[in-house]
Amino acid sequence: MSKVIDIVSLYPKDMNIYGDTGNVLAVTRRAGLYGYEPRIHTVNQGDEWPEQVDLVLGGGGQDTGQKKIIDDLFSRADVLRSLATDGLPMLMICGLYQLFGEYFETVDGSRLDGIGIIGAYSVGSDVRRIGNLVEHSDEFGDIIGYENHSGQTFLREGTHPLGHVTEEGRGNNGEDHTEGARVNNVIGTYMHGSLLPKNPAISDFLIRTAVERRYGAFSAANQTPQQCDELNHLDQLAAQARAVAA
Ligand code: GLN
Repeated sequence: MSKVIDIVSLYPKDMNIYGDTGNVLAVTRRAGLYGYEPRIHTVNQGDEWPEQVDLVLGGGGQDTGQKKIIDDLFSRADVLRSLATDGLPMLMICGLYQLFGEYFETVDGSRLDGIGIIGAYSVGSDVRRIGNLVEHSDEFGDIIGYENHSGQTFLREGTHPLGHVTEEGRGNNGEDHTEGARVNNVIGTYMHGSLLPKNPAISDFLIRTAVERRYGAFSAANQTPQQCDELNHLDQLAAQARAVAA
């Protein structure tokens, strides 16, 4: 009997730009190919929080989308904070990455308080950082994706970046070469693209951590030969996409 993994897709209605829904599809597909049974719970404003949660995936959004969901996000802040402290894996892209920080001051001067899971703050600027993005992480190797944001994020001392970019003007703030953040098993990043289909190492980290927390150990023992072949095929597609972007 396959083991279920309960995955929350957070605010897909308002926070899903530049292909971020692809992250949910990638994790679903990959977890299935490892022999697990992913179950997706979409949580938009006002929706009930599921009883069992093993992984949370959130996407990016325009400033307007962020303003729409902020009250709802605060109503779930305690739950999210305690899950993050407890080691639950989460991936938050761009707009939600900013709101997982301490605050986001938009370019029009309004200030959105964040839920403070990530020790960082973001400030809107007149310059939008747009384009393909490559960064290096000791844990995940080279990470590739696409960024499009006006907010500049600054990590507090002691907050680890997800990786470092080599190019000027890119990443968290265009100044210190950091990109994203990693707090416990929570990953925040500006990488759209979608991120996960092109970066299987991060998909696998999220799936593995989710499974280990729930079942104690990760095992792909239930994989069929056909699932193995399909997984290899996905890895080849990812390698091709990575070669083009690098
Ligand atoms: N509104 C935010 C910004 O521009 C986030 C954008 C995004 O999610 N791509 O900084």
